[in-house]
Formats: sequence, structure tokens, C-alpha cells
Amino acid sequence: MSGTIVLGSGMAAWGAFDRFTAEGVQPQLFDKATFLGGHTASFRSEDGFVFDDGPHISFTKSDEVRELLAAAVDGDFVEGRVQVDNYYEGHWVKHPAIAYLHGLPTDLVQRCLLDLIEVATAPEPERPANFRDWLVASYGETFTDRFPARYGRKYHTVGPELMNTDWLGPRLYRPSLEEGIAGALAPPSEEKHYITSFRYPRQGGFQSYLEPFFARSQPTLGHEAVAIDPERQEVTFNTGEVVTYAHLISSLPLPELIRILPAPEEVRAAAARLACSQCVIVNIGVDREDLSPAHWRYIYDEDITSVRLSHPHMFSEQTTPPGHGAVQVEVYYSDKYKPRELAVDDHVPVVLDDLRRIGMLREEDTVVHASAHLIPYANVIFDLESRPSAALVHEYLTSVGIEVCGRYGDWGYYWTDDSYLSGQRAAQRVMDAQVSV
Ligand SMILES: Cc1cc2nc3c(=O)[nH]c(=O)nc-3n(C[C@H](O)[C@H](O)[C@H](O)COP(=O)(O)OP(=O)(O)OC[C@H]3O[C@@H](n4cnc5c(N)ncnc54)[C@H](O)[C@@H]3O)c2cc1C
Repeated sequence: MSGTIVLGSGMAAWGAFDRFTAEGVQPQLFDKATFLGGHTASFRSEDGFVFDDGPHISFTKSDEVRELLAAAVDGDFVEGRVQVDNYYEGHWVKHPAIAYLHGLPTDLVQRCLLDLIEVATAPEPERPANFRDWLVASYGETFTDRFPARYGRKYHTVGPELMNTDWLGPRLYRPSLEEGIAGALAPPSEEKHYITSFRYPRQGGFQSYLEPFFARSQPTLGHEAVAIDPERQEVTFNTGEVVTYAHLISSLPLPELIRILPAPEEVRAAAARLACSQCVIVNIGVDREDLSPAHWRYIYDEDITSVRLSHPHMFSEQTTPPGHGAVQVEVYYSDKYKPRELAVDDHVPVVLDDLRRIGMLREEDTVVHASAHLIPYANVIFDLESRPSAALVHEYLTSVGIEVCGRYGDWGYYWTDDSYLSGQRAAQRVMDAQVSV
């Protein structure tokens, strides 16, 4: 199959590349970025810290992906049990908070438990109309409004009443009444997070997993697809080059892909309705390792800008200079629901202030690294318009013979393994279509 093009060089592109090459097809990969790997890229700073584009660990349950990643780093990865906790109005509680209410103010615990009892004895609810209905049916109003609805507004940038439940999967833990009561009466004993263990390359950050793929696929960087003509089967790049394709697979975000296609107005309008969060990542390096007992932490308070904190040196100690610790902080925005008003770099002092306020940073700590960057496409926002809008866009892309894959092509809440497998499926669809012609 000559002229097979894959747009992107991240996990989805890797999956497509592997599937094609397994059948003897050698696709050409193009990425607009000047670095490889999309979201899975890692960067080493001059002062010796390795930060991923955004915090990344692998917690895949797919044997195929586990073996692939392990082989990619010759088995040189760290494997650990995850520790996750939550900051709520001056209290630290384990995650998921609904199963570990112990230590929170008594009146709050009491109200959450009374709600849990009511929920446990209520008749099975009908299919929820939105995410808030699902939360209230699962936890009752008190916990919903104090915890997941509050956090969700910070993370998804929109309230749960405007979101669907398509994306939930195992993400939100639903304890039995017995678990809820036990967790309220005594300090935690076991982990209940949907992620229990993680793997992370010992050297070089998450990107090390992709190095063998980069070496084999040799993606062409700095090539932004700026126009696609599906009739002539041509992609035009920002460099002026025009490449003809027989088959095209894209891992671009759907709104970006539609922008460069001659799509009808209704498809353009549907793509414009698709919402995705942006993430400002603030990377901080400190002259101390014992910054946190948890690998990552969720911050619920609305007057604290930081949303989630992760500690790269707890994934692999090789990510920081000896004796140092690091924290990677996520702050979320979206054009549709919460436009960003602060310049990216101006988040650094705000986040440092947050970290002091929650007690993670001490006055005597020396901050040896501080930087910030923007992830323009972070998490798909599953608002009530997303499903029909994505369906319309996908229908159009199928009609012009373009296969999409990955988190932003399939428009799903994908982790790295899902994106890889999605790339494989897209390549398979292309090859199946060839056979059946
Ligand atoms: C903050 C954050 C934390 C995450 N943490 C985890 C985690 O801990 N574990 C986990 O498994 N998953 C995690 N994920 C999810 C994971 O990053 C994604 O599922 C996966 O990396 C997506 O891969 P992809 O190939 O689909 O997309 P991408 O990696 O975004 O690849 C798309 C590529 O397309 C390129 N591109 C865009 N426009 C053009 C154009 N016009 N022309 C050419 N190229 C273009 C981009 O430069 C990019 O390289 C996280 C995601 C985020 C945002």
C-alpha cells in the first residue's frame, strides 16, 4: 500500500505504525511539533529535572501494551503501588474521599453518611440525564457538591449538570454502605483508587517508552498539516510541501482536522461545538525530596488555582538531581467554559503561593526550578453536546475516506494504552478496506 500517511507521532501514531509495519506497510509520519511523542514527550531541563509534557504513568491492564512498554525500555522501569490523596479545606484525606471520610469535620461526615444510607436504600435510579444526576444517585447531595462537583468544575471547567456520563468507566469509586461507614470511623487501611499500581521508565521520563518507535518510524517533525484535499488525496504542510496519499490516518484533534478540510458548514459547526480543556502545567523543583506521601493529590478548594499535583521524583528518582523533589501542577481552562485570563508564566507565582498555603512548600525550601507551559488540548470535555457533535464529524470524515484515532481523533477519555490500541484499530480498518475492495 503506497502513500500511507499518519499525522502525529504520539501513542496513537505508534499503534497505527506498529499495525501497518506488522503487515509490511511502511507509513510516513508527520508531526507539526519540533519534538516527538505528542503528549508523551519528556523534557530534561538544564538544571537536571526531567518533566513530562504533563504527568504520565502507565497503569494499563492490557497485557499487550504492558509487554510492549516493558520491552521498549529493556525492562528498566520502576513499578510501584500508587498513593493518592485529597486536599479539602485544610484537611488531607486519602482518595477516593467517599471511602475515607475519617478526619473530615464531624458534621460533614455525618451528612455524607446519612446521604449514603439514603442512596443505598433508594430504588435503583433511572438512567441519569447528566453527570450530576449520576453523582447524586451514587453519593447523595452533600458529598456530590462538596467533592466531585467542585473538583469537576476545576478539572473539566464545567459543572456536572452540563456533562454526560459516557466517559465515566471505573473512574469514580462507588463504595458499599459498609465501606463508607468503615472509612468514616477509622483511618484508611487499603487502597481503593481505580489505579492501584504504576510503571514508569527509570530513565528519561515517559518518553523513553517511545524511543524504539521513534527510531523505527523516523517521523518528520516541524510539518504542520495546513490543508487536506480529500478529492485529490493531498496534504499540504506549512513548509509548502504537498504530499499525495492513498490512505490517511489522523491523530489530530477533531476541531483542528476539520479546520483544514473543505467540510460542509454543519460539520464545521459541530466541530466548533466540541469542547476540550487546556492545561497550564507548572513544573517546580525543590531542594527536598519529602514533599508528599502521595504520588498525586487532588485539590478541591475553589479559591486554590492548582487542580492536581504530581511528583515525578516519586515515579522515578532519576527525574530529579539527588536530594531534590519535584511537583508538576495542573491548572485547567477551556475556551468554551472557562477562558484563560492569566498569561502562562504568570501561573508560577500563583502556584507557588498555593503550595505554601496547603503546606507542601515550607518557608525554608529553596525553589531551584520553576517553569510553565501550555497544553492546548488536554481533556475532552464530555458536555451534553459532545456525543452528537462528534458523531456528525466522524460521519463526515468516514465519507471522505479519512481514518482518525487517538484521544483527540476518537474524541474519547483515552489513556496512553487506549490511544495506542485506537491507532492499531485505525490501521486495521484501512487494511480491511483494501482487502474488501
Ligand atoms: C495532563 C495529562 C495527563 C495525562 N496523564 C496520563 C497518564 O498518567 N497515563 C496515561 O496513560 N495517559 C495519560 N494522559 C492521556 C495521554 O496523554 C493520551 O491518551 C495520549 O498521549 C494521546 O495520544 P495521541 O497520540 O492520541 O495524541 P497526541 O499525543 O496529542 O498526539 C497528536 C499529535 O498530533 C500532532 N499534531 C497536531 N496538529 C497537527 C497538524 N496540524 N499537523 C501535524 N501534526 C499535528 C501533535 O503535535 C501531536 O504530536 C494524560 C493526558 C493529559 C493531557
